[in-house]
Amino acid sequence: MAYLTLKDINKIYPNGFHAVHDFNLEIEKGEFIVFVGPSGCGKSTTLRMIAGLEDISKGDFLINGKRANEMGPREREIAMVFQSYALYPQMTVYDNLAFGLTLQGVDEDVIDEKVKKTAKILGLTDYLDRLPRALSGGQRQRVAVGRAIIRKVGIFLMDEPLSNLDAKQRVTMRSEITQIHRETGATTIYVTHDQTEAMTMADRIVVMKAGYVQQVGTPYELYFKPVNVFVAGFIGEPPMNFQRGTVKDGAICFGNNKLDLSKKLSAEQLAAYEGKGIVFGFRPESIVLGAQPDSYQLTSDVELTEMLGDNTNVYITSGDDKAILKVDPHDTPEVDSTITFSIPYANVYLFDGETEMVIDC
Ligand code: ATP
Repeated sequence: MAYLTLKDINKIYPNGFHAVHDFNLEIEKGEFIVFVGPSGCGKSTTLRMIAGLEDISKGDFLINGKRANEMGPREREIAMVFQSYALYPQMTVYDNLAFGLTLQGVDEDVIDEKVKKTAKILGLTDYLDRLPRALSGGQRQRVAVGRAIIRKVGIFLMDEPLSNLDAKQRVTMRSEITQIHRETGATTIYVTHDQTEAMTMADRIVVMKAGYVQQVGTPYELYFKPVNVFVAGFIGEPPMNFQRGTVKDGAICFGNNKLDLSKKLSAEQLAAYEGKGIVFGFRPESIVLGAQPDSYQLTSDVELTEMLGDNTNVYITSGDDKAILKVDPHDTPEVDSTITFSIPYANVYLFDGETEMVIDC
């Protein structure tokens, strides 16, 4: 039996806006689940329904097999970290950490031990006497996380907890949260719009768009087996290149290049798609410069290059069509030159032009 079950969960706000549609998910004990998707797709709404901060309009939410729709937030034994740290400004770090336990009437010695242990895990030992205003953003965020993990809870919910931090702090806190999850084993649901956070932290990711779940899977599954154009374009940086076209004589065109789809599709599939729209997708990093066997070979003009250190992004054009390639910085081509590159057949994704769902090939 799953630890948390979301069954056909819907949220319709009082103004009639349908923010979440038939959300289904089973979460195992100890899993780290990330909800990811663009702004407004319903991630926070779903999290808040799990937390008990928002009514569930339709559907069932179960904790350990028991219906929890009507349970209050406390009864659900949930700890939550928000985007705003919500620390008590007049209390020291020590008191901020201790506050929840003090309210519960926990013994002072026990509180002291827990505060010190939590501070150690989060590298806050030297800051226990400080007020929040005397801390950096990253340190404040640690206190907020500490306040949540100090209580032994089964479910740990985080809503964009790193969005107020700079890029470097985000990377550090990312690995710290993963580490804390490993140590506490708490079932965690983490909301972000950042696909890198999702990919690096999650056991499983739920990709949402406009209130609908698009795909649930491990980072590996989402990257290599996206179910539709949206997921394929959302996971990966730079995103997957898409070439939209109409199938003509079993091929579509990328600029001056004609791509023979019989390398990917069966005769029946080709016949079915003749005259119809198709989306040809390939990831910037899945190409090889030069001509290679078992690949689509294309020529294109180099419009711009961006040297990033570990790789170079190469912006190419062919006719009106554009794409980005990721190459070894030592192989960075000249701007305005014409290059040949290969996309191994195995690295090409085809999607139905109308439904945008992946074509099994
Ligand atoms: P973000 O990343 O911007 O926080 P999100 O994916 O978490 O976005 P939600 O906050 O869940 O999105 O909002 C989902 C949709 O519901 C949005 O279109 C939002 O405008 C709408 N919404 C949120 N709260 C309410 C409300 N109280 N009444 C009506 N609509 C709401």
